Amino acid sequence: MARLEVDRGQCQGHGQCVIAAPELFELDDDGLSRALRNEVTGEDIGAARSAELVCPVSAIRFTPEPPRTSGVPNEGPLTGRGGER
Ligand code: SF4
Repeated sequence: MARLEVDRGQCQGHGQCVIAAPELFELDDDGLSRALRNEVTGEDIGAARSAELVCPVSAIRFTPEPPRTSGVPNEGPLTGRGGER
């Protein structure tokens, strides 16, 4: 899952995102883009990336989910020759 948002302060209504990914964006009554959903998965991730790339003012914020960790807490670097802490 990834997070998708439009910075409406930046958006200039060029509509390139709507052309690139009509399933994810629309222009509202003010002529500015808005994301139709803020969480995208699967094939929508590629469409969101395409829209991000074509926006001429970088108004699209697309934040991929960070990679999952093993769940083991970070215990810090090992020290000493034998790995003692
Ligand atoms: S391409 Fe960028 S500037 Fe144009 S409508 Fe979409 S978000 Fe706004």
